[in-house]
Amino acid sequence: MRQGTHRRRDGRWPLLPIAPGIVAVIALATAVVIAVLGITELQRASDDAAATRSRVLAATIAARVRTTALEDRPVVMAQAARRAGAEAMLVDQTGRILVDQSLGQFGDDDVLRLLVDAEGLTESRVGRVSFAATPLSPPLEHLSVLTFVRAPEPADGTVALTRAVALLTALLLGVAVTVAWTFARAIRDDVTFVRRRISEMAAPAPASADGSPSAAHNALPVRSLDQVGLLTTALNVLVTRFDAAERSYRADLARAAELDTERTRFLAGLSHELRTPLNAILGFTHLLASEDEGPLSPSAKEAVGMIGQSGEHLRLLIDDILDLSAMETGQLKLSRETIELHSLCEEVLREARAAAKDRPLTLALEGPTPCHVLVDRRRIRQILTNLVSNAVKFTAEGQIVIRLEDADDGLRVRVVDTGRGIAPRHLNGIFEAYRQAGTVAERREGAGLGLAIARSLAVLHGGRIEVASKLGEGSTFTVWLPRRASLVPQEGQA
Ligand code: ADP
Repeated sequence: MRQGTHRRRDGRWPLLPIAPGIVAVIALATAVVIAVLGITELQRASDDAAATRSRVLAATIAARVRTTALEDRPVVMAQAARRAGAEAMLVDQTGRILVDQSLGQFGDDDVLRLLVDAEGLTESRVGRVSFAATPLSPPLEHLSVLTFVRAPEPADGTVALTRAVALLTALLLGVAVTVAWTFARAIRDDVTFVRRRISEMAAPAPASADGSPSAAHNALPVRSLDQVGLLTTALNVLVTRFDAAERSYRADLARAAELDTERTRFLAGLSHELRTPLNAILGFTHLLASEDEGPLSPSAKEAVGMIGQSGEHLRLLIDDILDLSAMETGQLKLSRETIELHSLCEEVLREARAAAKDRPLTLALEGPTPCHVLVDRRRIRQILTNLVSNAVKFTAEGQIVIRLEDADDGLRVRVVDTGRGIAPRHLNGIFEAYRQAGTVAERREGAGLGLAIARSLAVLHGGRIEVASKLGEGSTFTVWLPRRASLVPQEGQA
């Protein structure tokens, strides 16, 4: 998977990439909870302290006022309020203010309400204040002292607490980010290292002289004990197995190549050995058939004719094997000359007509004439003979056409038939040596060498052979010869 496109797979979330985000969210949530709880607690403690102070102050002033002469009461109350940094009032039960040592913002109705509540929080000119009402002792119980102590909001220390929490959060986040980054970088470095080594291994490296795998297949060092380490270990096991398989494959390949060379050499040697006695057989057969040595009886003549036919067939087969081994060992050389292809095709068709004379088959030639090409005459004839004789072999009725097509990039020679066609699954194999398509019952005489030789010869000319076929409808074999190698400019042509 590409980096940055983490998706949910197999019903599991990819935890690693979102882990830093989770840590950040948890840190922020913790900070907010700490701040809210702390500030609420601070406010409550501050309000409690203000309430206690106002209660104590009211009780203290009430005690002192009771024993103070009427005219001295304002002074006593003013001193007490100033010392405590608070406000105070002496009121009667109707809410009338007798001594006012406050900032004077409360009216009689307000005072009455405060007397009923006895204590609590209210707003004054200085802001939020905690108030307490304490009646004087008898006989002055109709008088009460009201005190107001500032209860600030937010509570003192809130800013310091917020700062501390913010600092702690930043610290936590910093630590989390650093840890996550270090962790991610370590994993990324490990993964990059493993990826680079795998790429090095995957790059095509030349095999060493003894066929052993190159040094790029050495085991990867396991650098960590996490999942990447496990992955590396598993990969090393795979590499070891792959190395063993590659070594055995190379050994098999070398052995197969050796066997192939041996087979080619053996077949070539055997073919040579067979050709000498065969030539003698064919020579004597011709001599007998010519009846120079005396007349033959009709049955002896027929037998000699069959010996000659079979011998000729055997000679063609031996020639094919020798040609193929010469091509495989690179010994077959072309000798090019300028020939007229049209008349060569006529020659090939003439021979084929003789072979197809018992069947309702028409053999025709289409294309420009004259058509001069620079090729090896014998080898091009061999290709055409093979393609046309195959067409005759596999076409019961209809027509076979050799079509010459002069194209920009070269010359196409098509051999088209209306025969049985070739099944798609056999198409790729028919150009391989010793391969025949179809069931055993469908096979005709031949060793499966013709198309292999034809293809190699076309390639030697710098060209190629292609086949298109439809089962039951026919086949078209196309020999393409490149213009530079094949076509000779005609008079008047560029
Ligand atoms: P062979 O000499 O045995 O015919 P080839 O290499 O010439 O060998 O051909 C290989 C196989 O390709 C044939 O056995 C046949 O099955 C198939 N083949 C070749 N030409 C044709 C064709 N014109 N129509 C149908 N099948 C063909």
